[in-house]
Amino acid sequence: AEEFLLQSEKLSIVGELAAGVAHEIRNPLTTIKGFVQLYKKENSSIEFNDLLLSELERIETITSEMLSLGKPQAIQLKRTDLRELLENTLDLLQPQAYMNDIQFKLEFEESPYFITSEKNQLKQVFLNILKNAMEAMNEGGIIQINLRKESEHECIISFQDQGVGIPEELLPRLGEPFYSLKEKGTGLGLMICHKIIKQHQGDIHYKSEVNKGTLVEIKLPLLSN
Ligand code: ADP
Ligand code: MG
Repeated sequence: AEEFLLQSEKLSIVGELAAGVAHEIRNPLTTIKGFVQLYKKENSSIEFNDLLLSELERIETITSEMLSLGKPQAIQLKRTDLRELLENTLDLLQPQAYMNDIQFKLEFEESPYFITSEKNQLKQVFLNILKNAMEAMNEGGIIQINLRKESEHECIISFQDQGVGIPEELLPRLGEPFYSLKEKGTGLGLMICHKIIKQHQGDIHYKSEVNKGTLVEIKLPLLSN
């Protein structure tokens, strides 16, 4: 009975996802179609090209996020230096942060943090969380990233931003497919994060205060060297 429930639960989640994706893809497609029809009547203009491009990019984002979510991955866990992985991820976002007046501050206790991970997947988690933090900070500011040991066997990576925050009653909805409060959001970023963190036997937790900022904490098991 338990197995049956799990299976039907899975099916309904897949169905919901598929319907959601179809819906998300249809809207930008309708816009494109309308403009392409207009294009026939009149001549091309710059705004028209920009709009076409941004709608196409949105379709691209959604479908690629869907793909990374749906891919049945046999993940290969390898020994990973967590601090190094975090530093690499921050380097990737540095130009974008700079342009938005955002500063990253990374702090850690002086001890090595070795875990087992699929590096690219974990990097994806850090990227998604940092992107959300940056998108929440219209006026710039500091994103504080800390790495610490929770116990001998666990570490915590925390991301504190100074952004718009999230009302408490909405915290449980984070990670739900297509739950987004952004005009151009997909609502898939955190869902992907939750899935990957679970695959790594970890936990993700949020604390937030509206107009003050959001704290995202990820707990991961440490390798005993
Ligand atoms: P997206 O970024 O595409 O909207 P996500 O799954 O990454 O989708 O995030 C879902 C929603 O959670 C966002 O739309 C936003 O409302 C909220 N959120 C996530 N992280 C933060 C944050 N650091 N500060 C404020 N809101 C956030
Ligand atoms: Mg996001």
